[in-house]
Amino acid sequence: MEFIFSIISKSIKLIILSIKIHTSSSLTILNILSEEIVAKNDFFYKLINVKLSDKKMIGIGAGKGGVGKSSTTVNLAFSLQKKGYHVGILDADIYGPSIPKMISIESLPKQDGEKILPARGMGLSIISAAFFRKHETASFVRAPIANHMIEQFVHVVDWSSIDILLIDLPPGTGDIQLTLMQNLSLSSALLVTTPQQVATLDVEKAYGLFKQMHVPILGVIENMSYFSDPMTDTKHFPFGKGGGAKLADTFALDFLGEIPIDPAVSKAGDEGLSLFDIAPNSLAAQTYAQIADHLTESLLTMDQMDIEEIENIDSINFRIKWADGQSATLKFAHLQRNCPCMQCKQIDPATISDDLTAEQIERVGRYAVRCQFKKGCSKGIYPFDYLRKLAGIHSCE
Ligand code: ADP
Repeated sequence: MEFIFSIISKSIKLIILSIKIHTSSSLTILNILSEEIVAKNDFFYKLINVKLSDKKMIGIGAGKGGVGKSSTTVNLAFSLQKKGYHVGILDADIYGPSIPKMISIESLPKQDGEKILPARGMGLSIISAAFFRKHETASFVRAPIANHMIEQFVHVVDWSSIDILLIDLPPGTGDIQLTLMQNLSLSSALLVTTPQQVATLDVEKAYGLFKQMHVPILGVIENMSYFSDPMTDTKHFPFGKGGGAKLADTFALDFLGEIPIDPAVSKAGDEGLSLFDIAPNSLAAQTYAQIADHLTESLLTMDQMDIEEIENIDSINFRIKWADGQSATLKFAHLQRNCPCMQCKQIDPATISDDLTAEQIERVGRYAVRCQFKKGCSKGIYPFDYLRKLAGIHSCE
């Protein structure tokens, strides 16, 4: 399956590159080509010397439309903003962009030299296909164009002033999600569902895709969980009960919270207002704020787990330095003996020679590395926290 994804990804890259070259100004083409060269060099260098990126790109996904993914994205953006973060929203729903309708836009995207400045509204930076559409009618965009647009949104839009980029993914598990996850180093993901079984079944597919792409999932948010009758304070569960928590439990994910059905949520979205202005004390606003707290804690932990540097000591040993200052020297043989891939579970570790060498170690997103060994299996993806365990370092040390 990984092989099929890699072929799909390579063909998409080729199509995108040819479209870029045919449709861009010469300056942009130069940018595109230099991007390609950097990518190639990355692939061929021996051992990584990675730098911490200070941007967090969080994909917000759902299996189906209408579960409140965009509302969640916007309200989490406001919650994170209230915590002091500079937040951007990338509306990756090229076919049905809705973010600009939910936020009062003060300035549209502008060209600034070779970069595009994102639109600004209510203190947020926003980019969306809606800004580039001439008509309100449904858009018929071919997948390579949509992917190309997403790449531009990430690489050409100037996100330099933001700390966290929330990406409102289109519903489903199609091409755009694949491109984002394979090429754009999504740092983590959130899943949004309603309590209904049909929604949780769809979100399982989204879970499968994130998992396959090794994107860490920060947790599940259940939206439209219940409706509280303001007269009697009784809770009603029109979409069933507990679907989100059950889903989180099934996949051992954090359950981040239940957002009630609240007319203030839809009013805020429809009128481009902030829920935190029109109903700051509502349970919905408080739950979004709690989820944002949880999110920032998880991001902090991920930062501490991040690897700053990997260098080879000699041909059989390498040294890892984590962002929190921890470091360790490991043997390539030790790494391969603990390969987490399915096939290696059947292999006797004693058959792997102590003097095993490697050709390269490459970074996989912001959470793992992959090692190209001289001999034996190179399929394993080694998450940063797994490497700590192999080195005998406990996360809380
Ligand atoms: P999606 O992005 O998943 O398609 P939206 O965020 O656009 O879903 O939400 C679909 C509709 O439901 C919108 O009209 C939105 O205002 C409304 N909505 C979403 N969440 C809630 C909620 N918790 N309470 C009331 N209305 C909501």
